Amino acid sequence: SKAAKKGQALFFNTALDEQVKRDFLIETELRGAMNKGEIAVHYQPQISVKSGDIIGVEALVRWNSAKLGAVSPADFIPIAENTGIIRELGSYIIYKAMSDIKALNDNLPVPLNVSINISPKQLMESDFVDSVMQASRELGLDSQWVTLEITENVLISDLSVVQPTLEALKNNGFKISLDDFGTGFSSLSYLSNLPLNEIKIDRSFIDKFLSSSHSESLVKTIIAIGEFCHLSVVAEGVETQAQFDLLSEYHCDAVQGYLFYKPLPLSELVEKCRSHQNH
Ligand code: C2E
Ligand code: CA
Ligand code: CA
Ligand code: CA
Repeated sequence: SKAAKKGQALFFNTALDEQVKRDFLIETELRGAMNKGEIAVHYQPQISVKSGDIIGVEALVRWNSAKLGAVSPADFIPIAENTGIIRELGSYIIYKAMSDIKALNDNLPVPLNVSINISPKQLMESDFVDSVMQASRELGLDSQWVTLEITENVLISDLSVVQPTLEALKNNGFKISLDDFGTGFSSLSYLSNLPLNEIKIDRSFIDKFLSSSHSESLVKTIIAIGEFCHLSVVAEGVETQAQFDLLSEYHCDAVQGYLFYKPLPLSELVEKCRSHQNH
């Protein structure tokens, strides 16, 4: 009926309105969040399938806002990207992650790698390569311990900018990981053109891994592609032993997920590394 339609329209308008308001609030609060010390970086260990050792960590930003409570990066990263805040936030995360892992590595017999998520906007900045090199030099964390995670959608944007940027990073010793692999469009062609070290199988495939034979063959195929291209393959979102066993059978190189560790604040990461190495 007309009335129902009108009600629906009202509902959607109101919902949309609420979303716009919330996004605006996020933007406003996010601008001051770094100075207020509300931004933290947590670390999720990555485990070698072969040895069972922690070989690295993924840095994941956390925002605990005084006004909004805990806000998910899935909600505020896109807003940071659209408003330009990502420039400041991104370099804040790079510095924090590198200095945390430098401090950790100074106390470990075998250093860990840190993987840092880089948004397309950051990668397109003309001084991006210089700024990560400067951070690595200033903090004394050698680039060989730093992986930059980029997503497939960055590649659609402008390959003529992305390609030389990635080459420059590689030439300076940084590693490149292609995140959310398989979710984007025509990923395969990039594998041969880009200086990648690693691909990460998206959590959505690991989720359906055991229940869908389609997902299983997809995961199996991604691992085989990685092998063929001499890329390390990391599976994210591993939550069950059964998922791990199958990934291990298919010779996936590394895993991360709640089965092993959730993203941890630095202090807890230090603890886990200590107890892990005593095993
Ligand atoms: P992502 O890079 O694909 O990160 C993986 C997400 O899966 C993280 O969510 C992580 O906490 C979560 N996760 C890890 N293991 C499991 C598991 O076993 N089960 C489940 N259900 N989830 C798991 P998070 O931290 O909420 O981050 C969401 C997204 O936000 C990230 O997806 C990434 O795209 C973005 N993001 C997070 N931190 C940063 C950052 O520092 N910079 C940028 N540019 N983006 C970030
Ligand atoms: Ca990632
Ligand atoms: Ca993912
Ligand atoms: Ca391999």
